Amino acid sequence: MTDLYRLLPEEMEQLVMDMGYPRYRADQILLPLYYKFPKDLNDIPQLPKKLRDDLIAGGYTIGSAKEIHRIVSEDGDTTKLLLNLTDNNSVEAVLMQYDPSKIGGHPRSTICVSTQIGCAMGCVFCATGQMGFETNLKAEHIVSQVIHFAEILQQRGEHVTNLVFMGMGEPMANYDEMIRSVKILTHDRGFGLGQRHITISTIGIKSGIEKLAEENLQIGLAISLHAPNNALRKKLVPTASPNSVEEIIELGGNYFKKTGRRVTFEYALMAGVNDSPEIATELARLLKGNGSHVNLIPINPTAGDFQRPSEKNILEFERILSEAGVNCTVRIEKGTEISAACGQLRTDLAGQTGPNFSKS
Ligand code: SF4
Repeated sequence: MTDLYRLLPEEMEQLVMDMGYPRYRADQILLPLYYKFPKDLNDIPQLPKKLRDDLIAGGYTIGSAKEIHRIVSEDGDTTKLLLNLTDNNSVEAVLMQYDPSKIGGHPRSTICVSTQIGCAMGCVFCATGQMGFETNLKAEHIVSQVIHFAEILQQRGEHVTNLVFMGMGEPMANYDEMIRSVKILTHDRGFGLGQRHITISTIGIKSGIEKLAEENLQIGLAISLHAPNNALRKKLVPTASPNSVEEIIELGGNYFKKTGRRVTFEYALMAGVNDSPEIATELARLLKGNGSHVNLIPINPTAGDFQRPSEKNILEFERILSEAGVNCTVRIEKGTEISAACGQLRTDLAGQTGPNFSKS
C-alpha cells in the first residue's frame, strides 16, 4: 500500500502518466488532498471512476490520522492530540495559537509535529528521551499530523501558518523522511506552506545540519544547546559527545552563512542545573558577537526530577545575556498544564491506559 500523502507532486504526475492518464489528472488528486482532506479516493468525485479504481487496485490509499485523545489548555490556545497513524503507531502533535491581542504581532497557528516514536538522544529532562527509541515515522505520517490540524483549523475558518519539527524524536536522525515531508508540505502544488514558516529543531546532529544547509531551502534551524560547556551538556544530553559546544556553535554559523537564515539556540532552563548567573555569563561569553539568537525555555515539569526556575532567576539569566549583547527571548510557555512537553502526553496516557491508548 502507498499513501498518496507520501508523493511529491512530480511523483504524482509520473504515477498517473504511468497508468496511462494525462499529466493534469495529478492536480485533480493534489488539490483535494491538500485543500479538502478526503479520507478515501472515492471522496474525490471529480476524478474519473476508472482512475480511482486503478489507483485502489494499484494499492494507493489516502492515509489519515485518527484522533484518540485531545487535550485543550484552559485558555484554548494549545491543543495537544494523540494521533493514531495508518501504521498503528500513536504519536503526539500540538497546535499552538498565538493571540496578537495578548502578545502583539500577527495571529499564528503553529503545528508542532513528531518525527519519531520515542527518541534515542536520551535528554534527561525529556519525557520522550526517557521512552527510548521505537521507530522512525514515514514522511506521510509526518504530513498527516499537519493535515489533521489543517482540517480542524479549516472548519474554524483558520489555517496553518507555521510548522515546527519539535515534537517527539530527533528530526535529523530520520533525515530522509523528514526532508521528504518538508518538500511535500512546502511544495506550491502540495500543502504550500512557506519555507520560512518552518523550523527544524535538532540536538545538533552534524551530518543533518550540513545536509540541510545544502538543500537550498529557506528553513529555520533551532539547535538545542542547554549548556555552555561540554561537561554540563553531556550530563543533560548524554548522546552529545561527538560534537562539542564549540563545534555546534560553528555548525550554526555555517548554516547561517549558507542559507542566510539565522539560527536559534534553544536553552531549556532548569532550576539549580543550568540557570545560575555564572552559567549565564559563560553562555554570554560563548555566544557574544556571533549574531545568533537564544531562546530560553523554562522547563515544563515532566516525569523527571527537574524543576522550572523561579521568575527572578529566569529574568536574571535573560538580563545577563541581553546586557552582553546576546539576542535573547524567553519562550512563552504554551500548554504547561496539558503535558505539552514532547512525549509527555503519550507517556502520561501510557501510565493510565496501557500502550494502546484506548482511552479517547
Ligand atoms: S529533547 Fe528532543 S532530542 Fe532530546 S530526547 Fe527529547 S525528543 Fe529527543
